Amino acid sequence: MGFFDKFKQKITEKVEQFTEKVNKVGDNISTQVSNVVEKTTSVVEKATESIAEVVKIAPILQFNKLKEGLSKTRSNLSKNILGLLSGGRKIDDKLLEEIEEILILADIGVKTTQKIIGRLKQRVKDDKLELSEQIYATLKEEIYNLLIKSPSADNDKIYAIDSTKTPHTILVIGVNGVGKTTTIGKLAYNYKNSGKEVVIGAADTFRAAANEQLEIWSQRAGVDIIQREHGADPASVAYDTIHSAVSKNKDVVIIDTAGRLHNKANLMQELEKMSRVMKKVKESAPDDVYLVLDATTGQNAIQQAKEFMKVAKITGIILTKLDGTAKGGVVIPIADELQIPVRYIGVGEQIGDLQVFDPTFFVEALFGNDIDGSETNIDNLG
Ligand code: GDP
Ligand code: GDP
Ligand code: MG
Repeated sequence: MGFFDKFKQKITEKVEQFTEKVNKVGDNISTQVSNVVEKTTSVVEKATESIAEVVKIAPILQFNKLKEGLSKTRSNLSKNILGLLSGGRKIDDKLLEEIEEILILADIGVKTTQKIIGRLKQRVKDDKLELSEQIYATLKEEIYNLLIKSPSADNDKIYAIDSTKTPHTILVIGVNGVGKTTTIGKLAYNYKNSGKEVVIGAADTFRAAANEQLEIWSQRAGVDIIQREHGADPASVAYDTIHSAVSKNKDVVIIDTAGRLHNKANLMQELEKMSRVMKKVKESAPDDVYLVLDATTGQNAIQQAKEFMKVAKITGIILTKLDGTAKGGVVIPIADELQIPVRYIGVGEQIGDLQVFDPTFFVEALFGNDIDGSETNIDNLG
């Protein structure tokens, strides 16, 4: 073997050895990578499963909570109607009058009740209904039709914000004790959970303990709060809050206000001033004005809304305390008559107890199963 051949052999050996090393390293890397990938995949898969589980059960929990909250309204409304319909009664004017009475007593209000009864009469004719049992499903359907035609049908369920127009600014108003501050805490929590950065402004500078109460809610929700001393000008707090939101790139601003009656001219002017001052920072502010109403006040809530609508540009209604009241039927005329969306409903005092108002959930929770009025369970909710 000449020199050149030896050289060639060495080179070949070296190349082979190197290739082997590279291959080993390669194998090693690919084993490690595939280990990591496998682990990551299983972590991702597990997380996905958990998320899917949460996503799947969240609406069930919400529905059950709503159903539980509406139980008094349900026994007031649906059970009374079913009581009338059992025993093979004939459908006649007398029966429809009795249904009308129950609807009015269940806080559905005269105007909306008449609308519903009118539709029922039409359906009895059109569908040639004869047995009283058939009325129940028809009534449920007609109430659903009212809600689904109202502005309350199109509620944003995912707390979306137009990212080109942030911060989205919300002013929350209403009379004393309806649940404004509590609702702001819950709303901030929901926005935060959907990945939004929130700052709330404590513009109720009138009530002594208002700052402390809102601060507790801001801590629970894990969001920023802007506040000033008791007695400060609420408009200045609103200004500070929106200003801070812009400089810190926040997505949502929610302003709490002192409780006020619509007929106190000076307090209404104060609201106007707040809006005016907010516009200095963002032209469209307040993007939303939510009127908070207390469902336990029944027909009074509608009256309040009508009065407030005369003096403020309300973009949405939040109906609180639906849990435990027998007056939950009031949602129906509010959605139907006022033509302002019922955006959210309060179903308890905890931070997770604010739900997006959903007509399907509401009607199911209230009327239950079509045929016999038994409670709807989520697995048979289509
Ligand atoms: P504000 O004066 O309008 O700010 O009302 P607050 O937020 O201080 O609430 C007044 C009371 O209503 C508090 O005791 C709250 O816990 C209660 N509250 C608010 N929302 C709900 C609700 O959806 N359900 C129940 N059960 N209580 C509520
Ligand atoms: P009264 O029925 O006229 O005595 O009114 P109130 O007892 O509700 O309040 C007395 C005064 O406090 C009112 O005239 C208002 O100027 C002021 N006031 C009441 N509520 C508020 C509020 O929410 N914000 C502010 N800034 N002032 C308020
Ligand atoms: Mg308050």
